[in-house]
Amino acid sequence: MNGSRVLVLNSGSSSVKYQLLDMADGSRPAFGIVERIGEGPVADHAAALKQVADELAAQGLGLDSPELAAVGHRVVHGGTRFTEPALITDEVVEEIEKLIPLAPLHNPANVTGIKVARALRPDLPQVAVFDTAFHSTIPEAAARYAIDVATADRWGVRRYGFHGTSHAYVSRATAALLGKDPAEVNTIVLHLGNGASTSAVRGGVCVETSMGLTPLEGLVMGTRSGDIDPAAIFHLSRVGGMSTEEIDTLLNKRSGLAGLCGDNDMREIGRRMGEGDQAAQLAFDIYIHRLRKYVGAYTAVLGRVDAIAFTAGVGENSAAVREAAMRDLTAFGIEVDGVRNALRSATTRLISTESSRVAVAVVPTDEELEIAGRTFDLVSA
Ligand code: ADP
Repeated sequence: MNGSRVLVLNSGSSSVKYQLLDMADGSRPAFGIVERIGEGPVADHAAALKQVADELAAQGLGLDSPELAAVGHRVVHGGTRFTEPALITDEVVEEIEKLIPLAPLHNPANVTGIKVARALRPDLPQVAVFDTAFHSTIPEAAARYAIDVATADRWGVRRYGFHGTSHAYVSRATAALLGKDPAEVNTIVLHLGNGASTSAVRGGVCVETSMGLTPLEGLVMGTRSGDIDPAAIFHLSRVGGMSTEEIDTLLNKRSGLAGLCGDNDMREIGRRMGEGDQAAQLAFDIYIHRLRKYVGAYTAVLGRVDAIAFTAGVGENSAAVREAAMRDLTAFGIEVDGVRNALRSATTRLISTESSRVAVAVVPTDEELEIAGRTFDLVSA
């Protein structure tokens, strides 16, 4: 291998994000996004990937550049098959395609991204980095739902967890902030973006996470309900007359903060709360209540918590969410410093008091860097 650069591709359902990272000097020579796939001039994912290739070529950084060592692809679902990043072969592509029923919105776009990139540069090593992989260490007691075992196994119904790339990166960065080896630190990671999930990481190993079979379970999110009594679905079907599709749309797109108050952006909710808006206040309170429940639960799961890390759009930017989530938890050894918490900064930082037994931190996530690093490690091994 000659080059030191990795192109990271994140092919989502309606967009392709890309970043070119240089692992030798840490620079990012190019990044961008192709949006609204299927709606306008960009007909499909193949066209979007070609546009990415063209944008890179226009900057003299094309896929044929000798500095390019590999392409790293974000893949949402690795099932139980992929517990580590995988060097992409025809067999790996087939295996990812077989997982499409588990992630019908995401894996097809990921597969297309891989196929187009391979067609453009067949000789270049490409690596799949899975959103589920970091959670593959979760013990059976936490990964299994308490349903009939044969049915669960036949249909792959279990906790997989998502946002794993972020949870892995943030838990390691939190240990680094404390000047410790990840093996010495027990961390609760709160990834609060539009999608939101939390994980319990013991000594660098994930032991529990809030998303499950799909990214719907767990915390209250921008438009997703998170935890709900599954019998609510039967009720909406039998009594409410809703179809499976309608209930799917309700829980994934018309729930969460948006369902509760009409807004899914925490900035807007904060503004409305400032004007005394009751619906926005209730949405915020429900969001915080769920978050605190998980912090309590994961404290019991871990037994000893050394650090709590806030990350992603809300976690990195909303001092109000962090303050409310951590309020009155001195019995848990958690004390947030109001001044540190209110400080706006894009860097990794502690927001707990000097006397807080648990370190509370804001740790900006960097999924692209994690994907590039794992990709580079694999191809240079
Ligand atoms: P995703 O990657 O899941 O789309 P992000 O991690 O980018 O989401 O988070 C997006 C969310 O972050 C927005 O919907 C908004 O609620 C929140 N957010 C972004 N900036 C701020 C801010 N300054 N204050 C509060 N919330 C913010």
